[in-house]
Amino acid sequence: MSNSELSPEHQVEAARKAFEQEFERFVPFVDDPSALTKLDLETVVAEQRALADLRTRHLGKKSALAATKKLIGRVAPDQRAAFGQLVQATEATLVQSLDQTEQTLKNHIENERTARESIDVTLPGRRPRSGHRHPITLLRERLEDVFVALGYAIEDDREIETDFYNFDALNIPENHPARAWQDTFYTTEGFALRSQTSTVQIHAMQRRGVPVRMIAPGRVFRRDTPDPTHNPMFFQVEGLCVDRGISMAHLKGTVAELLRQMFGPDTVTRFRPSYFPFTEPSAEFDFSCFKCKGAGCRICKNSGWIELGGSGMVHPNVLRTVGVDPQEFSGFAFGFGIDRMCALMYELDDIRLLFENDLRFLEQFE
Ligand SMILES: [Zn+2]
Repeated sequence: MSNSELSPEHQVEAARKAFEQEFERFVPFVDDPSALTKLDLETVVAEQRALADLRTRHLGKKSALAATKKLIGRVAPDQRAAFGQLVQATEATLVQSLDQTEQTLKNHIENERTARESIDVTLPGRRPRSGHRHPITLLRERLEDVFVALGYAIEDDREIETDFYNFDALNIPENHPARAWQDTFYTTEGFALRSQTSTVQIHAMQRRGVPVRMIAPGRVFRRDTPDPTHNPMFFQVEGLCVDRGISMAHLKGTVAELLRQMFGPDTVTRFRPSYFPFTEPSAEFDFSCFKCKGAGCRICKNSGWIELGGSGMVHPNVLRTVGVDPQEFSGFAFGFGIDRMCALMYELDDIRLLFENDLRFLEQFE
């Protein structure tokens, strides 16, 4: 028996039942909107579209319910008013169910989207990452402060040098092993990447004349294979003091004061005779271990002393090279590695950490 053979009233009833059958799965959402929170947002949006399709199919112009309106002619005249009311009431029921459900889905979707897009003002703000200075720069500035307080000027100079400044003027003989290409980097034009900051002594005395007190922190380059204590590029600080009557006592006093400022007032300094072409006499200097105070530890290799740098009285040949009379003026010079001092202070096992620019390492020094 097809629908068309049913009475008009039964056809309205059939349309309503067909709707209810399809509508059934939306009922739980209306009864308990919190059930929607178990679905992801995309699923709820799909349900909203399915509901709109349902409305078109059951209330649209081609729907079974719309078709029943044309059946009024088959209804007995005294029943037509009642039939009209039945159709309208059925239609109103469907519209109400659909509207209520649609409103529920719409509210849920809007709430979810608002929650996703809203800014939680109770969350801590995102601070922009600000940079900070490299540990070597921080240490260099501390060293500069110590020497500026002692009346020294800070000198900066070129990193690519002629052999005159890198070797000749520093009294480094023609056959000295440091000149060999195995030890010094040369450019294709035959210039040397300075292998020590002592080159700045020469520039400073030529430019300023004497008396002079200056330090020169900067990069130096040597053909070393990188290992935990060596790097082909590293930082040195050079110190020079030339005046009338300068003696070894001034050198010792200056180095001792520097090391007390850097490693504490109890720091003891010791000088050991050594040899450098540009100083005579020459001495290497050590200081008492800041960690164990001389008792012996890993940092000082159980000796109680830490070796730091070289020093000595400026060789008369160096003074003569820049036109200074060694009979009238004398001076001392010293040099040490900033990165070595930095590695000691922060107890770094590998000096290469300072040059690898790994933020996980560098961020510790903020
Ligand atoms: Zn120690």
